Amino acid sequence: MDVVYLNGQFIPWDQARISPDDRGFLFGDSIYEVTRWYGGYFFDLPSHAARFRRSLHETRIIWEEESRFEEISEELIHHNGLGTECAMVYFQATRGVAPRTHAFPDPPVKPTVYGFARRQSLNTLASERGVGIWLTPDPRWNRCDIKTTALIANILPYQEAHDKGFAEVCFVRNGFVTEGAHSNIFFVRDESLYTHPENNDILAGITRKNIISIARSNGINVIEEAVAADMIPYMNEALICNTTGEIVPATRISDQVIGDGTPGPVTKRLQILLRELIQSGDPHR
Ligand code: PLP
Repeated sequence: MDVVYLNGQFIPWDQARISPDDRGFLFGDSIYEVTRWYGGYFFDLPSHAARFRRSLHETRIIWEEESRFEEISEELIHHNGLGTECAMVYFQATRGVAPRTHAFPDPPVKPTVYGFARRQSLNTLASERGVGIWLTPDPRWNRCDIKTTALIANILPYQEAHDKGFAEVCFVRNGFVTEGAHSNIFFVRDESLYTHPENNDILAGITRKNIISIARSNGINVIEEAVAADMIPYMNEALICNTTGEIVPATRISDQVIGDGTPGPVTKRLQILLRELIQSGDPHR
């Protein structure tokens, strides 16, 4: 039986209870984080912890034990016997339980904090062969920088893409490609790497940040500028990235084949560099 973390306790999954009046359930008034465990260490846990705290602060959810994020994540791995496995840890905090009304509970209530760990290996087929992604107008709000669990605007387009046989959906806002439903996107043109700048239109991905850093320290020019959707036919390569999938080549975007339809040399090089960084255990070396 899986052991989960709920409001200060590690308990068997089937004993976890959350109220129907929880604001995460009623409103999606809630934020989350996902980290990856590589059989002995987390990759760049400090950046995930910092992003979790930022999401808490931006949504004004007060969790007095926010400094325990790293320690609880590690305990979840060990309570579930995943120490030597590849796994992911999911962590969520909602504004807590209160009668339904938009205003924050007054006086404030404790947040509901939930975490679980699950065995998870990399989808090597997708990383090696690449995937197709579907492009669609971005229906989301203008605070995509907050990692909220209110994901209906990601889920609906993702399901549409999934039904059409695509592995991810990427969004277009004001004519420019922003990011995927659960990934950031990079393009390669004339040996330079392009990705949307960090602002409210995208989530500041931890994988994105580490890719930018390894690219720059290995002489690859990185331009943090959004790519216009109508420039996609002129791109040599494209890739999507996130914590659980690392780097996945995007070999087709909607009806457009990218490059020759196989993973390109810059993407493959970045995959190797990211793997080396992950294996070194320290993104800040
Ligand atoms: N953008 C969105 C909307 C996401 O949900 C995610 C991850 O799930 C990412 C980007 C990639 O972020 P990270 O590399 O930190 O996993």
